[in-house]
Amino acid sequence: MPADSEKPLRVAIAGFALESVSFLPGAASIADFEAVTYRGDGLTDGLRGSQSPGGGFIDVLDAERVEIVPLTYADLGAGGNASDEAFVHFRDEICAGLADVRDGIDGVALFLHGAMTTPTRTDPEQEFMQAVRDILGPDLPVMVASDLHGNIDARFGDLADGLFGYHYSPHTDMDETGRRAARALVRMLRGDVSPVMAIRKPDVMLPSIFTATSIPPLSDIVAEGFAWERDHDAIVDVSIFCGFAYADVPQVGFSVVVVADGDQALADRAAESLADKIWTIREDLLHEDMVSGLPDGVARAIDLSRTASRPIVLLEHADRMNDSTHILHEITKYPGPRIMVPYLWDAAAAEKAIAAGEGAEITLPVGGWSSDRAGSPVTLTGRIVYAGDKSYRGTGKMWNGYEIRLGPAAVIDTGDVVVSIVSRYVFAIDLDPFTQFGYDIDDFDIVLLRSKTHFRAVYEDIAEEIIVVDTPDWGPADLTTLPYRNARAGLFPLDR
Ligand SMILES: [Zn+2]
Repeated sequence: MPADSEKPLRVAIAGFALESVSFLPGAASIADFEAVTYRGDGLTDGLRGSQSPGGGFIDVLDAERVEIVPLTYADLGAGGNASDEAFVHFRDEICAGLADVRDGIDGVALFLHGAMTTPTRTDPEQEFMQAVRDILGPDLPVMVASDLHGNIDARFGDLADGLFGYHYSPHTDMDETGRRAARALVRMLRGDVSPVMAIRKPDVMLPSIFTATSIPPLSDIVAEGFAWERDHDAIVDVSIFCGFAYADVPQVGFSVVVVADGDQALADRAAESLADKIWTIREDLLHEDMVSGLPDGVARAIDLSRTASRPIVLLEHADRMNDSTHILHEITKYPGPRIMVPYLWDAAAAEKAIAAGEGAEITLPVGGWSSDRAGSPVTLTGRIVYAGDKSYRGTGKMWNGYEIRLGPAAVIDTGDVVVSIVSRYVFAIDLDPFTQFGYDIDDFDIVLLRSKTHFRAVYEDIAEEIIVVDTPDWGPADLTTLPYRNARAGLFPLDR
């Protein structure tokens, strides 16, 4: 029922997110999530104006003069499993928050990644939403914003009034996705729309490296989603979820989600048409020719760097934990080029460097600790040019305004290679890893990144060439090398 127009609407906002490589050992703890958690007024202060779904919620609710009821927002980004304890802890905290406020709110805006797993759960987000529904009852409107890499179960539509995924990877529209969800919520609360949802799942999954939405034919599918919105007034929103292939779950892979105003048949038709198209072009979505082998790719980068006027980007894309050493081992065989290796995740190495102090010479093994596929540690000998706790507000296209916390960090310069070592899992996707430490990317011949698609928003314009190298790690381009047990039968490219 539309709220009384005299009384301001009240909307609770919350978020709980992690993109989980289910194959990795270990699991994110409560403390890992706590390090990135916002609560209460800290949530609105911390996320307002940021390029995040929560930032988008706040933007629209502020503009629409809706009173915000901030609960808990914990976005850990990407990694391995969440621990079952952490999942239960944050599920229960957010549900307790909703139970406290449910009689005084008109709706809820949630951010869930869509590809979280725990050691014992293949779809914790479905369970989370069921718990939210159990608290709120069937009628209170709930809109959910999610990541383009979410593995969405078709039954999610029974629990949420609308689901909105990022349109792009790199995710330059995280805030806009939050706005889409919040706008639909406000329109629903004012009685302007009656959302219905259709979810269809073609049996297709893709390695993350091929989910860049600027590359055809995926770009054509995204454009076709926009065309459905443009050509049909009753279609409120279309999301093409590419899914996350490194989560071994029954619902892995693409999903098409269409939110329509009252017209279920139209939503079904649009979702089916887009899902059919994805199935039809599945072979063309797998750009296997984009990927080089390890020694060849590195040798080519070295060759190109001798004559290039701009930096070469080497992409160790299969590294899911930012600590793999396969390319670092290979590239240090070639003295000469100046190489930047930003944001290698190794908290123990960072602590040792900080103990030695800025200006000290150090010999230190780094990386290669997260699993037996990460490669052996690389021993660096060089000067410590930065040592200390580091956080900053992002300036790049994707993380503009978002607080980036690296934790205890150190930068070591060996003469040829500059490695920044961080204690928090953060991807280097823009120029902040250079500028925040006083470096200029133009002083480097080669940059070693571990991003999948997000770096493209900045580096496509900067790099002389991007060389994607496949390494024997947990995020490979060849999905048939992974030990799936839960992925459903008939799924491309496992069944081809
Ligand atoms: Zn994503």
